[in-house]
Amino acid sequence: MSAKSKPSGIRQGKARHLVTEIILHCSATMTTGWFDDLSFAEKIAEITRWHTDPKPKGRGWRAIGYHWIIDRDGTLARGRQMTEIGAHVVGHNAGSIGICLIGGGGSSKRDRFLENFTREQDTAARRLIQQIKAATPITKISGHNEYAARACPGFFVPEWLQGVM
Ligand SMILES: [Zn+2]
Repeated sequence: MSAKSKPSGIRQGKARHLVTEIILHCSATMTTGWFDDLSFAEKIAEITRWHTDPKPKGRGWRAIGYHWIIDRDGTLARGRQMTEIGAHVVGHNAGSIGICLIGGGGSSKRDRFLENFTREQDTAARRLIQQIKAATPITKISGHNEYAARACPGFFVPEWLQGVM
């Protein structure tokens, strides 16, 4: 066994889907405005309401859709357990981890990371990605905007991973 042996992997749901992908999102809240006056716990509670309130007001899910949330100062919070299937990209939830960065309101999909997010979020997101990669064999790291016609997370993840931001 080498020291770099493959991680055994994170499995999700009853079908035990192997987690192989990380997908990045943003909360699409403006960096100046009412969300700024909330504590991180209050921001998470608000996002949870968007996801769990019955339709049409909310999405009608049983919990927040993301596995991790990263605040403006880089603070990390857990949403769903990584062993649960998330709810963040239609058709790509099984076997993926959803990370939500607070901010990104009014962004477009090819903005530079630092136009919408902070250095602390950059550091925290990269560190979290490394931690997940150490736990499960990640083969793809992507952004919501690669799967849907939307700006989220407000930058192009493959470029950001190359450090172009
Ligand atoms: Zn998204």
